[in-house]
Amino acid sequence: MTVKVCKFGGTSMADGNVIKNVKKIIDADKQRRFIIVSAPGKRYSGDVKVTDLLLKCHNEAISHGDVKTAFSAVRARFVSLVKELNIKFDINSVLDETEALIESEQSEDFTASRGEYLSARITSAVLGAKFIDAKDVIFFDKNGALDGEKSYKAIAEALKGVECAVFPGFYGCGIDGKVKTFSRGGSDISGAIVARAVNASLYENWTDVSGFLACDPRIVDSPKRIKTISYKELRELSYMGANVLHADSIFPVRSANIPIQIKNTFRPEDEGTSILPILRYKPSGSVVTGVAGKKNFSVIFIEKSLMNSEIGFMGKVLDVVAKEGISVEHIPSGIDTMSLVIESERLGGEKLEKVLNGIKQAVKPDTLRVIENIALIATVGHGMSSSVGTSARLFGAIASADINVKVIDQGSSEINIIVGVSNDDYEKCIKAIYKEFFN
Ligand code: ADP
Ligand code: ASP
Ligand code: MG
Repeated sequence: MTVKVCKFGGTSMADGNVIKNVKKIIDADKQRRFIIVSAPGKRYSGDVKVTDLLLKCHNEAISHGDVKTAFSAVRARFVSLVKELNIKFDINSVLDETEALIESEQSEDFTASRGEYLSARITSAVLGAKFIDAKDVIFFDKNGALDGEKSYKAIAEALKGVECAVFPGFYGCGIDGKVKTFSRGGSDISGAIVARAVNASLYENWTDVSGFLACDPRIVDSPKRIKTISYKELRELSYMGANVLHADSIFPVRSANIPIQIKNTFRPEDEGTSILPILRYKPSGSVVTGVAGKKNFSVIFIEKSLMNSEIGFMGKVLDVVAKEGISVEHIPSGIDTMSLVIESERLGGEKLEKVLNGIKQAVKPDTLRVIENIALIATVGHGMSSSVGTSARLFGAIASADINVKVIDQGSSEINIIVGVSNDDYEKCIKAIYKEFFN
């Protein structure tokens, strides 16, 4: 029988009334048997996600502060949620146990994961489905990466003879046997892992928008919905900030060709967006599929005459940053110039100073400069490589908006052009690109 795996995000779990929608969605289709849930998210703008409330509890725990008061906000969320659902579930005992463990374990990952744990326990009671703890079936390896094979096997084993099950998203079990989380937004990855383990016909990702939009709806009013998108385009856009779906969530499903469908919990009848392997993907006909971006990058600009003839120049520079444990986002380069584009956060403390000194020593540049407060914006689409004049249109639109481009990087994948502009121009630039290609 074909099986669908459904992941419900934070807003879909935000309160008891929304969780009633979740039940309706599950009940409407017998193939929806395996469910992954996030911690309750924001109920209204300005509200705080349960995961963030829990991180505050952790800070209290490690500083021997007031865990009880910090935890009372978490407690209030779950108590009212259970009340709204009108189910028999002894939430207070589970919360007491959780609070005690937060205090005794003093583990950030464990504490952060409890939102998903509690959400899944409650959802399994609502649906009458089996609760399966992600800690028992999702495993990380010694490098902290997902141990796919071990996880898929354990999940398949745990689901033998099970009609319907609920898993908490966002975490699994580290090599030390303790709870370990993915990065923020990681429940999307958990959903993809379960989809792969059961060889699902579809991975439905239920959120609060009716699909993947051509750009961030918080910047452009009601952007166009993307009907179908390839794994590759999605990866580029989500990595660059379109956080509808975690950028790493495509890996488990991609190799098994399992399509993902983005759906809206609040408007289940809306079609949403299909994310498909390139073979099954039908181009929309538009040159650009979507635009996404992120703020707060630093650019380290290096210039040296005859750089191109100095063998190993780039390698020496990259060695310096690697030694500091810093990952580099992009390396635009010319004949005598190269730049390192790095998330500013990674250069905090003394790191920037150390990197600059290291570069000076290693390659003795003529010029070494740092440009801060840079936003990167990616314009992505398979249509771009085959259509003449796309970059002219892109840069024309940016220039018309009176925006100065500070960095350019055309990804070698040819489906992506990245520009760096000042943080202050970020929104304006996205609007200009959107207008050029979509209006
Ligand atoms: P969930 O809690 O369901 O995982 P997220 O908050 O992680 O949901 O992702 C959905 C949000 O992503 C939307 O509410 C929207 O504000 C934001 N978003 C950013 N870029 C896009 C985009 N290109 N298309 C759709 N939503 C986007
Ligand atoms: N609750 C976690 C977060 O807020 C994970 C998730 O929602 O996917 O990041
Ligand atoms: Mg999310």
